Amino acid sequence: MAKADPRTAALLRRAAVHAIAYRGAITKRLQRPVQSYSEALAAWDMPTPPRGRANRAVLDELVRRADPGLHATTGPRFYGWVIGGSHPAGVAADWMTSAWGQNAGNHHAAPAAAAAETVSSRWLLDILGLPAKASVGFVTGATMANFVGLGAARAEVLRRAGWDLEANGLFGAPHVRVLLGRDAHVTVQAALQYLGFGQRQIVVVDTDAEGRMRVDAAKAALGAGKGPCILALQAGQINSGAFDPFRRIIPLARAAGAWVHIDGAFGLWAKAAPARAHLAGGVELADSWATDGHKWLQTPYDCGFAIVRDPEAHRRAVAFGASYLPPVTESERDPTHYVPELSRRARGFAAWAMLRHLGRAGVADLVERNCQLARLIAGGVAKEPGIAVVNKVVLNQVVLRFGGDVPTKIGDELTQRTIARLQQDGTCFAGGSRWRDR
Ligand SMILES: *Cc1c(COP(=O)(O)O)cnc(C)c1O
Repeated sequence: MAKADPRTAALLRRAAVHAIAYRGAITKRLQRPVQSYSEALAAWDMPTPPRGRANRAVLDELVRRADPGLHATTGPRFYGWVIGGSHPAGVAADWMTSAWGQNAGNHHAAPAAAAAETVSSRWLLDILGLPAKASVGFVTGATMANFVGLGAARAEVLRRAGWDLEANGLFGAPHVRVLLGRDAHVTVQAALQYLGFGQRQIVVVDTDAEGRMRVDAAKAALGAGKGPCILALQAGQINSGAFDPFRRIIPLARAAGAWVHIDGAFGLWAKAAPARAHLAGGVELADSWATDGHKWLQTPYDCGFAIVRDPEAHRRAVAFGASYLPPVTESERDPTHYVPELSRRARGFAAWAMLRHLGRAGVADLVERNCQLARLIAGGVAKEPGIAVVNKVVLNQVVLRFGGDVPTKIGDELTQRTIARLQQDGTCFAGGSRWRDR
């Protein structure tokens, strides 16, 4: 190996030593940050530095300042929210990504980064059982993936109605009906708002006890109007882990001429595990999908995938040209043509490394093991007096309520106090949520 300038080499080696020490001690840390945000802010706070500092001293200072405010989300007893573990294979690739410093906007500036994206997007579609010809944008997360997928939906349903959105804009366009399940993730609504759809314009479709869209309600909503229409469905409800009945609803939507978008931030990965794939059966019939790399695939933050069946509709929504940039073509895939950014991190390297490391079988095992452990936890705690499991544990989500089988206000308070004590204790970490008004 060629020798780097000794000071650079020492700095990068030192960063590796810090990182190894952190990861090595992860099981010994409390499963919560030692500092709250306000404590962390007080500890970080200082006036604008009048002069610089040597980079090694900056690194040590960064590590010293950050440590008490770090949340051990990469540790084995972290069960909070839906947060991935930043797998070492992905972290190592991510270090290389930073060291290489590629601007992964286009394949002229960064051929390797663009190639890694192209190949890992093929693997991704294969593992998730989605159409091989679909296009994939490597975005920051499912929020932006929802934004891109719904952006493609918006332009395409308007185009089919004879309206050129790119030329004419949204003001004065034909009305687009947007149907969304009652238990959709908030980021879908956020994405719709970024795209010019106000909250009151969205038709909320009823769901069942597990948060799945009701087929009769979907049918009624689809039939209640004419013209351009977008239906957003969900693979993996954030609390219950439930899936909308794709096989029954998507054909109805197609018959009504609607574009179907799926928020599958984590749930889409059920398709990768043979014993779980049936949960997401029919999801492949949709027009666009949003999912994350930094959740179930365990890439480091951040990484999400915006997937669109029709690559042309995908590019039309987000691609742009400029005199100094290469033209938009299909054969020469440019990463920027599938995302809302030009200059961007080469997320394909870490995604490639995770898929290469795990392979199809490794992804399947990872998902299946998580689901089995969720069921084991649910089965174990359900035996304890005063604890109720309130969702059907089909995937990796377990919702618990404390204070007896019948939901009460006192039980709600006890649940909140239990969460607070559990988090304070720091042996493991779990988060609270509001589910079915409790
Ligand atoms: C996490 C999540 C999102 C948002 O994804 P980000 O990666 O945080 O942007 C959207 N939908 C569901 C169901 C999620 O779990």
